[in-house]
This record gives sequence, structure tokens and C-alpha cells, in this order.
Amino acid sequence: MPEFPEIEALRRALDDPVRAYPVEKAGPAHVATLKTYDPPLKALEGRRFAGAERRGKNLLFPTEDGELVLHVHLMSAGRLRYLRPNEKQPKSPAFKLSFLGGAAIVLTEGGPKKRAKVGVYTPATIEEELAHLGPEAYRLGAERLGEILTSDSRRLHAFLRDQRLLAGIGRAWANEILLTAKLSPYALTTELEPEEIERLADAIDSELARGLELRERGASDKSAYRIHNRLGEPCPACGTPIARVDFDEHTIYYCPNCQTEGRILKDRRLSRLLR
Ligand SMILES: [Zn+2]
Repeated sequence: MPEFPEIEALRRALDDPVRAYPVEKAGPAHVATLKTYDPPLKALEGRRFAGAERRGKNLLFPTEDGELVLHVHLMSAGRLRYLRPNEKQPKSPAFKLSFLGGAAIVLTEGGPKKRAKVGVYTPATIEEELAHLGPEAYRLGAERLGEILTSDSRRLHAFLRDQRLLAGIGRAWANEILLTAKLSPYALTTELEPEEIERLADAIDSELARGLELRERGASDKSAYRIHNRLGEPCPACGTPIARVDFDEHTIYYCPNCQTEGRILKDRRLSRLLR
């Protein structure tokens, strides 16, 4: 599940290689992966990218002539790789783009579902496509964060993941951020004290920076996450076994000592069934 640290590390790694040579062949793309048909993928051929950009969890590759933008969203299971000339290619990629000189970028997706997205846009249409995104979470600052928090009453974990409010955070880094901020995933955005908002803003920056630094060094999920996917393991701050709660369609990990004053959060699906 790539979020800011993973996507930004990828963007930095791709920024130079994608501008080294013009595009020789854009495609093939899986029919479920390619989200646009006008301009056609082929319109990228012969053009050179100006580099790699990121907006939230979206990767953008604008062409040097300023006319087109290749958009890639990995969703939860997509993987984008840069392959050097003669490097082994995956058999049936969801999307492939080859450069003159033999290098390529290749999108693959684990599992049977095709959720990752690729599209070709003009600068105006991609802006429209991404207009729903909130400001970048990283380095947002407490003042602006406070304004967004109070604009709507939400539980903190859901708030952090909502790309329309804050762009770049997903379920894994939301868990990491809330542990560092020592805030409950169920705390309401409108009920935070100014000091808690400061703590949350600091935790967003420090955790995303920690994640980015690790991902740039190629760290695995297991070494990047300190609480996510670690049910029953000791909390890195206090040693209390990490707890888990299923909330809507996913899972939240938290430390009952650091974050919820010892309270065990109820599984909302389960409590609905018992009602
Ligand atoms: Zn703890």
C-alpha cells in the first residue's frame, strides 16, 4: 500500500532515468488499467519526459514539451519499476512504457484485481482530475492542519486517510503517525486540544520523513512499520502489546497504553452484529 514515503521515494528514483531518453513505445496497457483513450497512449511516443512529479499518492510524468502528462496511481497492490536495458521483464505487465535505448518502466499488480490506474492527460485535464485532493500532508504545519481538522467532525484515523482533506497518507502511515502523536485513532478531529494538534502535525512530518528515508534506502515493510501489522508485538515506546481493531473495511493498529488510556477499542462490525 504505497503512501507518501513509498511514492516520493519512487518519484526521486525515477526523476532522472525517465528523462534520459524519449519514449519509444507506450504500451501495452491492460484494458482495466488504462483509464483514458484521448489523448491516446501512442501520443507519448517520440516525446521526452521532463521528470517525475508527485501529488498525494499520484505519480505524474509531464512531457518536456508541456503538452501531455502520464498519470500513474498504484492503488494498493501496484508496483512500478524502472528496468535497465536487458533487465528481465515481467511476463504480462499491467502497463509498460519503453524508452529509446532499451530501458522501460513497468507496472505490475499483485492479485487478480486490476485496480492500479494509468492515463494520459493534458496539463488542464489532469489538474481537473486531481482537483479533489486536499493539501499535501507532509510539512503542512499545525495552523493549517488545525483549520482542516475543525472543518468536519471525523475520527482521526479516517481523517488522516481521506485524500480530499489531506493528501498522501493511507492506513499504514496513519497507524504510525497516531502512535507517535499518542492520539487515539477514534479521537474526534473537532475535539483535539491545540497541544494535541501540534503533536499531530509534528508526528505527520517526523513519521513521513522517517518513512521516506527508509524507503529511499530500500527498507521492507517489516523494518519501516513500527506498529502497522504488528498485533501482539511490544509497542516500541512502552512495551505494551499492540492491539488491533477492525474499523469499516480495514484494520487499525494501536497501543492501548500510549494512545487510548488503556481502553480497548470496539470492533464496530462485531458490535453491529451483536446489537
Ligand atoms: Zn505504547
